[in-house]
Amino acid sequence: MFPDDSVKEFDNGSSVFDVAKSISTSLAKKAVVGKLDGKMVAINTPIEKDAKIEIITQGSDDANIVMWNSAAVLLTAAIEDIYQNVEFGEIGNIEHGFYADTDKKDQQISVDELPAIQDRMKEMVSEKIELKPSKIAVDEALKQVDGDPYQAQIIKRNAVDGQIQIYKVKDHVIVSDAVVLPNSGDVKALKLLSVAGAYWEGKSSNPMLQRIYGTAFFKQKDLEVEIERQKEARERDHRVIGNNLDLFFVDPKVGAGLPYWMPNGATIRRTIERYIIDKEVNNGYQHVYTPILMNLDAYKTSGHWQHYREDMFPPMDMGDGEMLELRPMNCPSHIQVYKHHIRSYRELPIRIAELGMMHRYEKSGALSGLQRVREMTLNDGHTFVAPEQIQDEFKQILQLMVEVYKDFDITDYSFRLSYRDPKNTEKYFDDDEMWNHSQSMLKGAMDDLGLDYVEAEGEAAFYGPKLDVQTKTALGNEETLSTIQLDFMLPKQFDLHYVGADGEEHRPVMIHRGLVSTMERFTAYLTEIYKGAFPTWLAPKQVTIIPVKDDVHGEYADQLKAKMVKENIRAEVDHRNEKMGYKIREAQTQKIPYILVVGDSEVADDSVSVRKYGQDDSKNESSDVFVNNLVDEIANYSRE
Ligand code: ATP
Ligand code: ZN
Repeated sequence: MFPDDSVKEFDNGSSVFDVAKSISTSLAKKAVVGKLDGKMVAINTPIEKDAKIEIITQGSDDANIVMWNSAAVLLTAAIEDIYQNVEFGEIGNIEHGFYADTDKKDQQISVDELPAIQDRMKEMVSEKIELKPSKIAVDEALKQVDGDPYQAQIIKRNAVDGQIQIYKVKDHVIVSDAVVLPNSGDVKALKLLSVAGAYWEGKSSNPMLQRIYGTAFFKQKDLEVEIERQKEARERDHRVIGNNLDLFFVDPKVGAGLPYWMPNGATIRRTIERYIIDKEVNNGYQHVYTPILMNLDAYKTSGHWQHYREDMFPPMDMGDGEMLELRPMNCPSHIQVYKHHIRSYRELPIRIAELGMMHRYEKSGALSGLQRVREMTLNDGHTFVAPEQIQDEFKQILQLMVEVYKDFDITDYSFRLSYRDPKNTEKYFDDDEMWNHSQSMLKGAMDDLGLDYVEAEGEAAFYGPKLDVQTKTALGNEETLSTIQLDFMLPKQFDLHYVGADGEEHRPVMIHRGLVSTMERFTAYLTEIYKGAFPTWLAPKQVTIIPVKDDVHGEYADQLKAKMVKENIRAEVDHRNEKMGYKIREAQTQKIPYILVVGDSEVADDSVSVRKYGQDDSKNESSDVFVNNLVDEIANYSRE
């Protein structure tokens, strides 16, 4: 039966390809795979029983997925061909291409090695190798992967009736459940693109592997379109913009993952920090400063030392029995603040916040500009609530978060509620009632506020359910920007209490929350969404004043600047002995929001000739009107 419900008979054992050919030769030519009763099958699969058949042709999303799965198989084979000691995690397709996760023990594969791998893949394409799936026994498959721990897990996970599907490419055995093209020669146009860190099974508690990305198409032209799209994404890359606008640098020679904020970047950061502190203080948070070093015992009590040690810097042995640890999180510090006084139910919720500097020993291959660093400052906050206050507090935090997003003009985000896995409850903090109650409370709060969300079972932290806010980076990767996490465990570990209305001691619940994540990741993210053209309130330089002739109009320009500086506007005068056109162009490449040109007529009537970033024409305005409007714009965080 076909998608249009028409029915046709074929000899038993005819393949999907035969069916396509019986319809038309052009269909057969474009056919990539078939779907039998909704399940993707290779084009040469014999049809052995009555089934609903769909023929997938080039250009469709499904066809691209098959292309990318095929390229992933070739990529794996090519890497195995070139290197001796590589282990493989997942391979497969992603949104715009394919990937293979690798772990090369001595030294990870670097981006410089991609051309050689790509060449090897292309050789395999021209060799026109048949890509035929076959089934082998799990024991045999385990032997073939020769002690590769990731592959062994994949084999055990994917085995059906003790068997596993493989492809043979030359003498390489590649474990893959995917449907692929019949022949390596069908992978017409391909390109390897980049390398980045990816956690095994996507869990940050697991080892980080190197993910090699590429893309492939049936036509060279489609590949070119995709490469162009990615080029556009790269133009948003915060590392490129960060360099052009002199925002920050990271130099592995003085410390990998330890960023230096240059004056321009520091100005953006300071503006964000002041904004967020004010916002939180106005919403009932008490901002504190706590040390970045702490006695290691605190991290033993919290459990970080047992569960998170891989991401922590090694402790410092002070020689007198004291072991100090660079904190990877601020929670134990804020717990000390809570514990410093006896707390009463009347004080709750107690909201402790800090721009807390922390250190995490991220793998060097995973470090990326400001996006993933080893020293970072988190917009952190912990609120301590009575159990019955969870829902109200959660709503309050959410509302604050939405307000903050609005001020930064962040619109592309989605909510994910993460619950414990109901089939695997022993993995989580043991209190069924608490879990059920708090999960339904979070859901209820989202519904009350009318917010859309997806629910993810099994994604909760082991200490409680959480809400994550997912955003997209310029390169299309999902990233968690904000998070609200309930925690029943740390209050117990640190034996926290408050005195209730009944005069008895009660255990508070802790809510970990970050509104704008770390200063580092947030600045990277903003740089990308604004493409470096920061809204005026955040721009490192807000106004540049260009005198037509410095000796005649320079003094007026200085007076204008003084007037603006008095209003806390970041203005400067370009006194350099350069042509006016040159100065204007340079201010534009620096993406300065306002360029003011001042000459005879502006001096005569105390006005300015204003050119706004992104606009071609300029307009004349009295200097007072300009300054007043600008003060307004900055105060309201507006984009205009
Ligand atoms: P990730 O999965 O990105 O490693 P995480 O789950 O470990 O993050 P949390 O412990 O919740 O993150 O940290 C709070 C926030 O700090 C994260 O949401 C993220 O935005 C940010 N963050 C975490 N690690 C880094 C890092 N290495 N560099 C910059 N920012 C980071
Ligand atoms: Zn915390």
